[in-house]
Amino acid sequence: MKLTGGCYCGALRYEAEGEPIMKAQCHCRECQYITGGAPNMFMLMPAVGFRYTKGEPKKFTRSDLERPVTREFCANCGTHVVTRPPMPAVVIKVGTLDDPKQFGGPDMAIFTIDKQPFHQIAAGLPTFERLPG
Ligand SMILES: [Zn+2]
Ligand SMILES: [Zn+2]
Repeated sequence: MKLTGGCYCGALRYEAEGEPIMKAQCHCRECQYITGGAPNMFMLMPAVGFRYTKGEPKKFTRSDLERPVTREFCANCGTHVVTRPPMPAVVIKVGTLDDPKQFGGPDMAIFTIDKQPFHQIAAGLPTFERLPG
């Protein structure tokens, strides 16, 4: 599939091609900062199919973690667009897609160990305290 999206102000634009590796909602504490408190809806896409078509993101990587992710966001409006995990993939925030309906919904809920009492998980959705497997 082909996805296009960008940040809130339009300074950053991207496209991503390929088959989603994972579609999930993440309840981790880190994601709560980025979403405003809700679980984070994301699609994990192959890094090879991802590119920025406009602008350059500002990047942030924590220095106190053994296997940190790099977070890429718009320096102008602050929208967090993608996360780069330590594997050849990009975590695309569904809210930055031009058509968020392309997400189609999560296949699982992950990092429920950090779930807040007000977070919702759809009935029957597979859940994992951290990552599957
Ligand atoms: Zn922006
Ligand atoms: Zn998370």
